Amino acid sequence: MSAYAPPTTLSPSRIDSFLSCPLAFRFSSLDGLFDPPTEATVRGTMVHQALEYFYDSPNTERSEDQLHSAVDKMIGDYETDDDIIFLGLTGDKYDKLGNECRKLALNALEMEDPKQVNPVGLELRIEATFGEVTLRGIIDRLERDSEGRLVITDYKTGRAPGPSFEKKALAGVHFYALLCQREFEEDAAELRLMYVKSSQTITSRPSSKTISFTEQRLTAVHQAISQACESGQFATRKSALCNYCTFQQWCPEFGGDPNVALVEAPRRAQHS
Ligand code: SF4
Repeated sequence: MSAYAPPTTLSPSRIDSFLSCPLAFRFSSLDGLFDPPTEATVRGTMVHQALEYFYDSPNTERSEDQLHSAVDKMIGDYETDDDIIFLGLTGDKYDKLGNECRKLALNALEMEDPKQVNPVGLELRIEATFGEVTLRGIIDRLERDSEGRLVITDYKTGRAPGPSFEKKALAGVHFYALLCQREFEEDAAELRLMYVKSSQTITSRPSSKTISFTEQRLTAVHQAISQACESGQFATRKSALCNYCTFQQWCPEFGGDPNVALVEAPRRAQHS
């Protein structure tokens, strides 16, 4: 009997989680242990929401004033959000967080001409089945460029990667290109990562070859996860990410016992 039932659905973030560290993936995705939000993750979610409100307005209305209105609306929405309360980001701290989000959203505005953006979908949920696995994703912004071609944009509020890590950073949007190809029967012309903190954009041009490679990659990762589920063996992968890992005290790399986590660690449901 398998230790865990293999997942039938995956998302780019879960794939990245497994590839970064299979044991942390097990704790978070299969054991359902609580992986708490951080100020950085909440800030990212809030900026995404503000930009969604902004780009949902007609092209002609997209001005700096309109962006401030979108940020104000978002700030109103999130004031009593569970994650904000959990992190104690209320009062002055919430004002500071709101100002940081406003600055990041304004940076995004300066990186492109918002009146030229023609969205097809914002925070677009999209899924398709490939063999035994359904791939699900949420595309921040799918648009048509001036020549009518599809462009996929992903906003990032963290630090931009150095040149040698750009390919890894683009892996998630290549899965979105695969989903678009299946949904619209059309290859996206460009993939874009917009790092709004440093005003940097990383782009890639997908092709039939990269889309086919991404599908093979999806199948290979799903097989690797299924094998780990079957055997119950989830390897550790020590890296700089361990410094931020919620599960470090139960990790064998740090003298912990993963089975103890099942008894000691809080479950997600206790906090949701
Ligand atoms: S501490 Fe590092 S190796 Fe251990 S589970 Fe977390 S990410 Fe994986």
